This record gives sequence, C-alpha cells and structure tokens, in this order.
Amino acid sequence: MKTAICPGSFDPVTMGHIDIIERAAALFDKLIVAVMHNSKKMSLFSTTERVEMLLLSLAHIPNTVVMYSDKLLADFIREVNADVAVKGLRAMSDFEQEFQMALINRRLNRQMDTVFLTAAEQHQYLSSSVVKEVARLGGCITGLVPVCVEERVLRKLCNTGGAL
Ligand code: ADP
Repeated sequence: MKTAICPGSFDPVTMGHIDIIERAAALFDKLIVAVMHNSKKMSLFSTTERVEMLLLSLAHIPNTVVMYSDKLLADFIREVNADVAVKGLRAMSDFEQEFQMALINRRLNRQMDTVFLTAAEQHQYLSSSVVKEVARLGGCITGLVPVCVEERVLRKLCNTGGAL
C-alpha cells in the first residue's frame, strides 16, 4: 500500500489545497493530510480548528486521514510509514522555497521523496494569506475556500474585531 503525506499550515484550507489533495488522493492508496507546526508563521486558527476544517472539507475523499505534527516532516513521514510528500506548486511563488525544502528533507531522510503537482490555473493566486487579507478588508471569499471555512473565517473576523 502506497501512502503519501500532504503537509501544510492550512491556516485555513483553501480550494487550492483541496484541488491538490483530491488529485494526490487519486494517485496514492492513502493520503495523510498533515497540519504541520510552522514556527515562522503566526497562525490565525488553532491546530484543532485547522484539523476540524480539514476533516469537514475532505469528508468526500475516503482515503484521506487528517493529522497534526510538530515534528520535522522528514521524521514524521518515517513515523507514519510514508515516503512521499506531495506539494502543490504555484507558478513563481513556490518554486525556490519548495525546491530547498525538498532537498533538505531528502538530506534528513534518504527514503523520502517530494512529488510536485502543478496548481490549477484558477488557483495560482490563491493562498491562505490572500483569503485572510481579502476577508479582513471586507472582500468576498466565496469560492476561495469551502463553505464551512468561509463561515469560520467570517466568525473569526467578528470575534477578533476585524483583526485577521
Ligand atoms: P499557504 O501557502 O496557502 O500558506 P500552506 O503552507 O498550507 O499554504 O501550503 C501547503 C502546500 O499547499 C504547499 O505545498 C503549497 O505550495 C500548496 N498550496 C498552497 N496554496 C495552493 C494553491 N492555491 N494551489 C496549489 N497548491 C497550493
């Protein structure tokens, strides 16, 4: 059985992430969607909230499992008996950082490979930060995130007095 991991911050999950997850789930027997702790990013949603939004948004894909990890991806992937990480690649913005990450991960874990799926044309500009910025400035985020996520972003906006 071939298991892959789709790691990310998912703060929150967007339609761009979901497209990559759906396509990766079709390529592997089992796909672990892993909410990874990122010390460089201040997250808006707690890990519990991010996991919950993923669970709701991925309920239609039976071979996905959602997990959280605060370990190195190279160690976590070994722990869950997977050896492939699937990442989405948007034109320009992702290449350099993803290339560097793939190389360091392979240095840390020689069994591990990173597979890149090109982001869908209509999602090239989409990121969790764009969604938060648009919502913060009162723009419409319908269609950029699943409905359950849209509701939670708007609720967070109310609860934080507009500070996303
Ligand atoms: P973000 O860049 O939105 O903060 P993450 O850190 O959660 O997202 O990224 C997790 C993975 O999802 C990365 O491989 C990233 O390149 C990919 N990804 C993010 N947004 C998109 C998108 N719109 N289309 C395809 N892949 C994406």
